[in-house]
Amino acid sequence: IPEYAFIGRSNVGKSSLINMLTDRRSLAKTSGRPGKTQLINHFIINDNWYLVDLPGYGYARVSKTSKKKFQKFITNYFEQRQQLVSAFVLVDIRHKPQPIDLEFMQYLGENGIPFGIIFTKADKLKPKAIDKQVDEYCQELLKTWEELPPYFITSSSKKIGQEEVLNFIEATNEEIERLKNP
Ligand code: GDP
Repeated sequence: IPEYAFIGRSNVGKSSLINMLTDRRSLAKTSGRPGKTQLINHFIINDNWYLVDLPGYGYARVSKTSKKKFQKFITNYFEQRQQLVSAFVLVDIRHKPQPIDLEFMQYLGENGIPFGIIFTKADKLKPKAIDKQVDEYCQELLKTWEELPPYFITSSSKKIGQEEVLNFIEATNEEIERLKNP
């Protein structure tokens, strides 16, 4: 069954987003403590796709060796997953484009892994500021990408963007089915 992987810097709001998407508060616990999601978690949604929760990257306080180990872990995942349809890279909408996120998107692109961007914590900005941040992000992406990836503006605390993300995934799954059984 198709799977979709969610990844981002620690504290970006990944657990909260996953709780919003799964609507099961008990499934992925949120925490203010970075580095809590250590291993891969799978959630089966509507009996027809997997939401894969990957550990957060970019902890400031871990050693070089554990950074390396972590990178290996992530790259192993992406190189081995046959069922992976798309990754979602989460970025905090308040932050300027960060090298670590851009590099990660570059890695996905080089490895032919489709991805979308999920802007998180949109409730923290006014609509105009959201537009400005998204615009800036798109400008940055267009420096290296010919096309923009699909992107979603979300807030887990205000329940914004839940339908958009889920509809995108459902539509993609339907497309996959159509291609399988024309
Ligand atoms: P993770 O480390 O990426 O899994 O991030 P968490 O989901 O644990 O969230 C990190 C912090 O950001 C917590 O204090 C959350 O309450 C807060 N947070 C997460 N999502 C949102 C959001 O949509 N809006 C606001 N205002 N805060 C959020």
